[in-house]
Amino acid sequence: MKVPILANPTNPVRARSESSERWQTSLKEAIRSGRELVQLLGLQQTLAPSAQAATDFPVFVTREFLSRIQPGDPADPLLRQVFPAASETAAVEGFGSDPLQEASFTRCGGLIHKYAGRVLLVTTGACAIHCRYCFRRHFPYSDIPHSIDQWQPALDEIADDESIEEVLLSGGDPLMLADPVLERLIDALQSIPHLRRLRIHSRLPIVLPSRVNDALVEMLTASRLTVWMVVHSNHANELDEAAGQGLGRLIDRGIPVLNQAVLLRGVNDDLDALTDLCRRLIDLRVTPYYLHKLDQVAGAAHFDVSKERGCELIEGLRTRLPGYAVPRFVIEQPDQPSKTTIV
Ligand SMILES: *Cc1c(COP(=O)(O)O)cnc(C)c1O
Ligand code: SF4
Repeated sequence: MKVPILANPTNPVRARSESSERWQTSLKEAIRSGRELVQLLGLQQTLAPSAQAATDFPVFVTREFLSRIQPGDPADPLLRQVFPAASETAAVEGFGSDPLQEASFTRCGGLIHKYAGRVLLVTTGACAIHCRYCFRRHFPYSDIPHSIDQWQPALDEIADDESIEEVLLSGGDPLMLADPVLERLIDALQSIPHLRRLRIHSRLPIVLPSRVNDALVEMLTASRLTVWMVVHSNHANELDEAAGQGLGRLIDRGIPVLNQAVLLRGVNDDLDALTDLCRRLIDLRVTPYYLHKLDQVAGAAHFDVSKERGCELIEGLRTRLPGYAVPRFVIEQPDQPSKTTIV
C-alpha cells in the first residue's frame, strides 16, 4: 500500500508563525562553547575545557539549564553532563560509535524497528542540550530525512506494516521541530489507521520548559492517537520550578509523563542523588521509567558505572521510596527483543 500521506497540506489556518516563539529565541541565546561555560560559572581557576572534545561534539546548553548549575563548583552534577572533558578523547576498548547497532535495524532513512509493535522515528539531529554521554553522539544524522516530504518512505513503511501500533518520535529531539512541521508529521501518522499511540521522547520539557506552550499541548491533546511523553532528567537539580510547571501542563491535560535517566558517574551514582531525583519526579506526578546502564559510546567511558553498583543503588531506592518511584535498571543489548532488565 502506498498512501500519499504527506500529499495534502495541513489546514493553513492551523499553521502558526514560528519566528516569535519564546523557546526559539531561547535557543538562539544558548551557550555554545566550553570557554563560555567556564567564564559564566566562574571556573577559570579550576576547569579547562577540551578543544578537541568540543570539536568532536560541540557544546550546547540552554540558559535555563545553566541557571541550575552551582557557580564555582567544578563537580556540579549538571555541569558534568555538558562539559567537554579531555577524557572524552581517549579511545577506550569496548566503546564505539554505534553501540546499539542501530544501523542494522534501520528500515529506511530515520526509521528504526527493533521491538514488536513499535518503531522509532529519528526526526531530527537537533537537541537543545548536548549531553556528553549521548549514545547517538556519532549518529549519521545526515542520512535521516531533512524535509517533511523525505519522511514519506518511513511513513509508507509504517502504513504497510499492520503490526506497528506505536510510533516513537526521537532524535535528536522531536520537540526541536517547529509546530507546523510537527503538526504535519502527527497528521500524517494519525491518518494511518492501525496506529494507536504516539510516544514523544524529549528532553526539552526539562532543558527548555517554555517549549511546552499552549499550542503544543493543544496539538498533542487534539490528536486521535494516545500520546505518551517520555522525558529525560538525571538529577533533581534539573527539575526546577519552571521544568515542574511545564511537566504539569502536560499532565494536567491528560498526557502521561515518564522519565528516563542514565546512570552516570559523578552525576547520580549515589543513593541520595537518585533518591532525590525519584522523589522529585513523583512529587511532580512523573513516573520514573528506566534507569539506563550507560551505552558504550566512544567519548563517554568516564561516565561508566558498574552493573553491580547500579543494582545496589536500585535496592537502596526500594528501601526508601514507594514502589512506583523506583525505575527499572536496564541495559540495551542489540540482539534482544526488548531492553534487558538488570533489576
Ligand atoms: C528503547 C527503544 C524503544 C522503546 O522501548 P520501550 O521498552 O518500549 O520503552 C523502541 N525502539 C527502539 C529502537 C528503542 O531503542
Ligand atoms: S537530549 Fe538526548 S539525544 Fe540530545 S544529546 Fe542529550 S541524550 Fe542525546
